[in-house]
Amino acid sequence: MSRVVFISELPANEQAVWLSHLNEKLNDEIKLPHQLSEREALEVDIAIVANPDPKIVARFPNLVWIQSLWAGVERLVTAGLPSQVKLVRLIDPLLATTMAESVLAWTLSLQRQMPCYTKQQQKQCWQQLPVKASSEVRVSILGAGELGLASLQLLSKLNYQLSCWTRSPKNISNVKNYTGVDELSQMLRETDILISLLPLTPQTHHLLNKDLLNQLPKDSQIINFSRGGIIDTPALVKLLDEGHLSHAVLDVFDVEPLPQGSPLWQHDKVTVLPHISAPTNISSATSIVIANIEQYRVQGVIPTVTNLNKGY
Ligand code: NAP
Repeated sequence: MSRVVFISELPANEQAVWLSHLNEKLNDEIKLPHQLSEREALEVDIAIVANPDPKIVARFPNLVWIQSLWAGVERLVTAGLPSQVKLVRLIDPLLATTMAESVLAWTLSLQRQMPCYTKQQQKQCWQQLPVKASSEVRVSILGAGELGLASLQLLSKLNYQLSCWTRSPKNISNVKNYTGVDELSQMLRETDILISLLPLTPQTHHLLNKDLLNQLPKDSQIINFSRGGIIDTPALVKLLDEGHLSHAVLDVFDVEPLPQGSPLWQHDKVTVLPHISAPTNISSATSIVIANIEQYRVQGVIPTVTNLNKGY
């Protein structure tokens, strides 16, 4: 018999909601690790996971594949899974749409100087700031995968000057594409709003360090919606303090929740968001995960897997 285990570090109430959604469609086949005997654990071939403790994943020696409920899987990639285990991250068009909406919302907010108006209101200051047309604003996205591509497509409807930086060359209509470290500098020099939608890997960890951030033009702005580790935060804060960068919208941090003592909370050029740019939609994700499992049970086909060498 084949079995499915659900492994997560979610709060118990959230875990129970996921489990009931999933089991409703899979006839109660899915169990939590402690509900399985040692013999039953040997029959588990699929694990559904939400940011799991890799040590618990390792308790299932006959796993064939792991389905993540999140799009980012860096914790499992770095844990070093046994070579036969395939890792499938969540690819959900609704998640990409949600991210694209967040990207558009915050790009518009920065373009139309909303953080400045918030500060002005606090001081009861009535001052009209200049308006830049979207066609004059250069927006660059780091990464053009599932989320980056959807974001570029939505932004292109507003006529921004769009660029993206990827590993492999891309041909996306109305978007300039850059690859490699040299071309990254070139793109940064021609950017007003920089958005990170890169996965966190050894290559992207602290990619945005002092040198690269310095290559952005004066008064440019940053949005980080992927992972906190992409940016060297002290370098970012220094460049904001020095007035080189004018604002940062951060949804992701090295440590989450952002610790109470973090200077980012009080920084007047930083917008702190609690990792909400693209939450997984439980009902849409459940349908995708169940379809993936059913396809595997009937046809033996594992969905698109994460390349553990590339790290995403
Ligand atoms: P994806 O489909 O795997 O796309 C990743 C993109 O990054 C690809 O275009 C890839 O280039 C590019 N890339 C990776 N490493 C690179 C490098 N070293 N140099 C240049 N380009 C590189 O990932 P996704 O689904 O769009 O998700 C991106 C990230 O968003 C996730 O990993 C996760 O961390 C984050 N996320 C955040 C939230 C949130 O709520 N804040 C929600 C979901 C996901 P190629 O196309 O050439 O391979």
